[in-house]
Amino acid sequence: MKLPIYLDYNSTTPCDPRVVEAMLPYFTQKFGNAASRSHAFGWEGEEAVALAREQVAALIGADPSEIVFTSGATESDNLALKGVFELYAAKGKHIITVETEHKAVLDTCHHLEKLGGEITWLPVDREGLIDLGELESAIRPDTVLISVMYANNEIGVLQPVKGISEIARKHGVLFFTDATQAVGKIPVNVDGDGIDLLALSAHKLYGPKGIGALYVRRRNPRVRLQAQMDGGGHERGMRSGTLNVPAIVGLGQACAIVQAQMDADTARIQPLRDRLEAGLLQIEGAHVNGSRSHRLPHTTNLSFSHIDGQALLAALAKDVALSSGSACTSASMEPSYVLKALGLGDDLAHSSLRLGLGRWTTEEEVDYAVQKITETVANLREKSIRWERR
Ligand SMILES: *Cc1c(COP(=O)(O)O)cnc(C)c1O
Repeated sequence: MKLPIYLDYNSTTPCDPRVVEAMLPYFTQKFGNAASRSHAFGWEGEEAVALAREQVAALIGADPSEIVFTSGATESDNLALKGVFELYAAKGKHIITVETEHKAVLDTCHHLEKLGGEITWLPVDREGLIDLGELESAIRPDTVLISVMYANNEIGVLQPVKGISEIARKHGVLFFTDATQAVGKIPVNVDGDGIDLLALSAHKLYGPKGIGALYVRRRNPRVRLQAQMDGGGHERGMRSGTLNVPAIVGLGQACAIVQAQMDADTARIQPLRDRLEAGLLQIEGAHVNGSRSHRLPHTTNLSFSHIDGQALLAALAKDVALSSGSACTSASMEPSYVLKALGLGDDLAHSSLRLGLGRWTTEEEVDYAVQKITETVANLREKSIRWERR
């Protein structure tokens, strides 16, 4: 076993070696510009992109023509929200989203607010779930978009996507979901789930960083977007810029692999997650944050009473790599806004660990992590006045 062990798969995943292997020729021999129509170098790139588009589409039950390649989920979130907001401005300027969304959605919505957009921020219950009745009541004649993530990156909680899409359809409102944490971990199907726009990212599913996609529905209804990047008109005009062929090949290959082995991966990883969680729940004052029944199979998020999360992470860092929440906020001392939205006080929100398991997590690593975290919590409490006075 090599230290530190990696239990931060929600923050990013290593590339599968098969992904890297598929990408390599496209840096050197097969370097053509996929938009070069006049020679074999271009055709080769175009063919590779076409295959990757099919692989991405197949994983989510879409048509290849509905896939727009982007630089990642952050860009896909921006393109979906800003693109719909601008194009449907004649209908209205109201967007409904949720307090526990990823920063890429929250900050984009704040930006749109400054441009005259009106945003409804739905709260979540203690489990991290939205209330469908509350969602429906929030819809107005000028609502253009509902943006609710599929699975939360900090607590793994799955929102009721089908219920959301039924409400959206009934009221003629478009439904966008940031599915970055869900795609490749659980079955996602844009038709079955009633999704109009969907964001995904390669580096969360064993592909390279800096590449992702936005699914944009073409039929029933046909969704239109205002491009945010002007230029050569690539990606049906929705995202200009020379295609990053090696990265796109990597994303496609990662999707094909994950589609083939998702069931096997889950069958192996979920019991490991449960073993890890059960082990950590033996610690006094430990509890799981968010719903345990509506949740990704490879994630758990726990709080330990009377423990400073930063001190815990620092003490563990040389043995176990994990985080307290989203990687974007872990640099700051702010407690997780996701956990606060669940109703946790500052104390418990500060004492949380997010654990994400993945394709290369072993039972040995899980047992080691349980032992290390148990020891470290005990050590910190020994020195803690807060613990003595509890
Ligand atoms: C990681 C993540 C993002 C950002 O994806 P990038 O490809 O790194 O830009 C957005 N949303 C969610 C839910 C994520 O987990």
